[in-house]
Order: sequence, then structure tokens, then C-alpha cells
Amino acid sequence: MRAVLVKEKGGPEQLYLGETLTPQPSPGELLVRVKATALNRADLLQRRGLYPPPQGASPILGLEMAGEVVETGEHASKWQVGDRVCALLPGGGYAEYVTIPEGMAMPIPPAFSYEEAAAIPEVWLTAYLNLYWLGGLGRGCRVLVHAGASGVGTAAIQLIREAGGLCWVTAGSERKLERCRELGAEDGWNYRNGSFAPWLAEQVPEGVHIVMDFIGASYLQDNLEALAVDGRLILIGTMGGGIYEGPLNLGHMLMKRLQVLGTNLRMRDTAEKIRLSQEFSDYAMPLFEKGTLKPVIDRVYDWREAAEAHRYMERNENIGKIILQVDK
Ligand code: NAP
Repeated sequence: MRAVLVKEKGGPEQLYLGETLTPQPSPGELLVRVKATALNRADLLQRRGLYPPPQGASPILGLEMAGEVVETGEHASKWQVGDRVCALLPGGGYAEYVTIPEGMAMPIPPAFSYEEAAAIPEVWLTAYLNLYWLGGLGRGCRVLVHAGASGVGTAAIQLIREAGGLCWVTAGSERKLERCRELGAEDGWNYRNGSFAPWLAEQVPEGVHIVMDFIGASYLQDNLEALAVDGRLILIGTMGGGIYEGPLNLGHMLMKRLQVLGTNLRMRDTAEKIRLSQEFSDYAMPLFEKGTLKPVIDRVYDWREAAEAHRYMERNENIGKIILQVDK
């Protein structure tokens, strides 16, 4: 089969369309012909050799896909050849074919294109996992979402809105903040104008219940300040650094009964990912069908333009997802 491969660890110029072995479905698996996949920040790190795939996973980039079932492995009985499915992957999405455990497949809403469906798995499952399983999201919940216009951020804003929660965001431009408000955020702060802390204290003097943080070290102190009593800081990414150098007031954390939770979707075991995919699919697919929830797509590239798509993400220009069409 053809796949977008990495010549050597390095920049986007290392990506090329090459040939590799087609995977074969094991018992309980599906072979899916990939129609569209999507970029994630993890792909940029993996391309540079900084984020190795989990043991046993495909070394090919790509954490999600949408496509058509072309073969069912032994004992796989939930899906038929020809079904349209999308799924989370531990790797391998930038390819013509992938194999997935059948429980991981989620049905594509009939009105959705493969490109729209490919925008769902990674960022929506990440947002759902962190807001519901770790954050305890519910009606009236106040949430601060950093990188609000990111793929995960645009999904999180909509999930919070639908849960009857309230959400404030940060992002790096007015254009991005405006899009976040359209999606349901109460308001937003452009972090290029300085720390979000005074703005948030004015907006939400009582503090937020959850901070969804992708930034890490550079925001740690302000994130802890932003939390209400019993608040949870959910650390999903470290785009602003992974080592915190400043002083940390543990007494303050203790008095406010704060929780700091590190989280990672890719390294979770398959059974957990299947449970998450099924729970999310039952909740969200009807809402996607009704148009209540919408995957936010910034651009669609042909997979031959994968290098350009990676450059675009590296420039932080996207609002929502960047999609790769796997052949036309
Ligand atoms: P994305 O769509 O590429 O958006 C990321 C945005 O973050 C950028 O466009 C940029 O927007 C902002 N940003 C980048 N560097 C920043 C910095 N130093 N300080 C502040 N803002 C910065 O990203 P994504 O695919 O949704 O992923 C978002 C984050 O979630 C990434 O860190 C990713 O690794 C993480 N993630 C984690 C998991 C997990 O399981 N732990 C799963 C999925 C994703 P601005 O213009 O606003 O700066």
C-alpha cells in the first residue's frame, strides 16, 4: 500500500509518499480503506523523533482516520464490508489501509463526508475524556480552556456548552477568540496582551472548576490561581514547557484542595480506548447528526501535500482541524 512515510527524523521536508506493507486484520479486527486522516501536534513531534509510537503500534504517522471497512477479521461480527467508520489509532493513519479492533470503530453520521468524520476521533475523544472522565463536567461547571481555537479546544468548547457549563478561553489572536465565542465560549483572552490571570479574575471571581491546559510550565502558577476550591488542573500538553522552575505554594494547593491531573490518550490500553470510543459515540454521534456538535475543519490537503500541512500547523495558523485526503 501507499503511505506518507518519514525519510529521516526531522522537518516537514522528510515526509514523502512511499510504499509499505499492507496490514492484515487479526481476529476481532477490521481492515479499513482510509479515505481521510487528520493532523495532530503529536505527528509533528513523532516526525522529529521526539514522540515514539507505543509498543506494537504502526510507526507510520496518524492518530485517526475515517474510511470504509473492506475486510473483517475472524470473529469480528459488529461491522460489515462497506460500512463507513472512523476511529482513533495508536499510529498508521497516513496510509491507504489500517487495521483496528472492531470495538474501536465509530459509525460515521450519514450526512458526513470522510473529511468531516476524520476530524472527530482524536480531539473529540481527548476533550470528552478529560472533561467528563477526569474533570467531572456537568451543568453549571466553569471551565478555562487554553489554546481555545486548537482542535481539542474547539471540541471542548462545544462539549462544555452542551453540558450546560460555562467556558472561557485563551488564544493568540482576535480571529481565534472570535471563533471560540461563536462556538459557545463566554469570552476569551489574547495571551499576547499579557497574563490571562487578571482578566479571568475579573470574569470569574469565584474561580473555575476545571482548567484544560495544553501549555504547561509557563501557565502553572496562573492556572492554580484560577481554580476554585476543589478545582482540577488537567494537563494535556506542554507546548509552553515541561519543566516548572518557579516557586510553588503547596500550602495554597492544600488549602484549596486542588488536583493536578496529567493525562494521555495515546498510551492508554486498548480496552480503555474502546470503552471511551463507545461511550463517546453513543453520546455524540446523534448530536453530530442533528448538527448540534460540529467538527471544526480549517483546511483539507491532499496527502501528497502532507509536508505543507505540517508547516501550516507548525505556524499555529489553524482554527480546528487540518485534514489529509487519502487519495481521491
Ligand atoms: P492544534 O490544533 O495544532 O492547536 C494548537 C494551538 O496551540 C496553536 O495553534 C496555538 O494557537 C497554540 N499554541 C501553540 N504553542 C503555544 C504556546 N507556547 N503558548 C500558548 N499557545 C500555544 O493542536 P491540537 O492538535 O488540538 O492539540 C492541542 C494540544 O493538545 C497539543 O499540546 C497536543 O499535544 C495536546 N494533545 C494531548 C493529548 C493527550 O492525550 N494528552 C491528546 C491530543 C492532543 P495560538 O494562536 O492560540 O497560540
